Amino acid sequence: MAAGTKKRDYYEVLGVSKTASEEEIKKAYRKLALKYHPDRNKGNKEAEEHFKEAAEAYAILSDREKRAQYDQFGHSLGGGGFQGFEGFEGAFQGFGDIFGDLFEDFFGGTSRRGGGARSGFRGADLEYSVEISLEEAAAGKEIAVEFPRHERCDDCQGSGAAAGSRPTICPDCGGHGEVRVSQGFFTLRRTCPRCRGEGKQITNPCPHCRGAGRVKKTRKLSVKIPAGIEDGSQLKVSGEGEAGERGGARGNLYVYISVKRHPIFERMGKDIIVDAKIGIHQATLGTQIEVPTLDGKVRLKIPSGTQPGKVFRLKGKGMPDLHGYGTGDELVRVNVEIPEHLSSQEKKLLEEFGKLRDGSN
Ligand SMILES: [Zn+2]
Ligand SMILES: [Zn+2]
Repeated sequence: MAAGTKKRDYYEVLGVSKTASEEEIKKAYRKLALKYHPDRNKGNKEAEEHFKEAAEAYAILSDREKRAQYDQFGHSLGGGGFQGFEGFEGAFQGFGDIFGDLFEDFFGGTSRRGGGARSGFRGADLEYSVEISLEEAAAGKEIAVEFPRHERCDDCQGSGAAAGSRPTICPDCGGHGEVRVSQGFFTLRRTCPRCRGEGKQITNPCPHCRGAGRVKKTRKLSVKIPAGIEDGSQLKVSGEGEAGERGGARGNLYVYISVKRHPIFERMGKDIIVDAKIGIHQATLGTQIEVPTLDGKVRLKIPSGTQPGKVFRLKGKGMPDLHGYGTGDELVRVNVEIPEHLSSQEKKLLEEFGKLRDGSN
């Protein structure tokens, strides 16, 4: 901006209102930058001025703090010039970001940041599902897992090149893994499509793996399921996924555990719940019943006068804590069964009982 020239209002420069949103400001700047970009206006001084002016306005208005300062003080801040702007170079630093998505629109791919050739690709993660019983979840279990997986090819030691040959430098990118593409008025770098960013090319591929550097094999593995595991848990087995391509790191194996619904036990965290039925005479007089637990039957004493819905707690008969903090309890919920059919003798006795009860009231 030449001295003495009256500075235009930043909002006016971008052609947006004072209340414009960040998105509107970004859009307006993008339009101007494309229109006045030096690559598109070779030797046009006026376009260059417009471009700089727009970049400066955008640098201020896209920064919430600087925009607030500008709104309050205008260009007058600091006596003549706005101090928040770091200059033309600064504006260019944000250029990649604002155009990043635009580049992707143009080329239908993602732009990779940072240079240099990639060394192989990390292998994919694998998933394995297993269903276990509640008893197995309580005791813990070692399971045998078997699945097909890519392994490093022994014939070529994972290089993908046939014995006695070596990968050669990719002729398209000269080993950089990136190529420059000119699209209209600007140039950008993108991952070399020929070598997929590796910078190397296999001219004489290994016949065993056809140049991939890995082959499919069956992997057998033993996975320890810890006692107390919850339904829907996921165990991560690091480094047991697919082999990477051409020397890349291995992915991980994820084992999903589902715990089958138990026919009699209901799990509630560390505790398990079971329902037991007793007769009215047992509830009234008291009794002993047999109750199933995860490790066999136990006897439970039912005191006289037990009410329907009463819960008895069997200490330590629940699920172990996954992290070793003790064991939960088994809760026995006692229901009292009212007989639907009575023999004539039972009926007689109950009537007798009823008369006695009524008389005593
Ligand atoms: Zn290449
Ligand atoms: Zn091979």
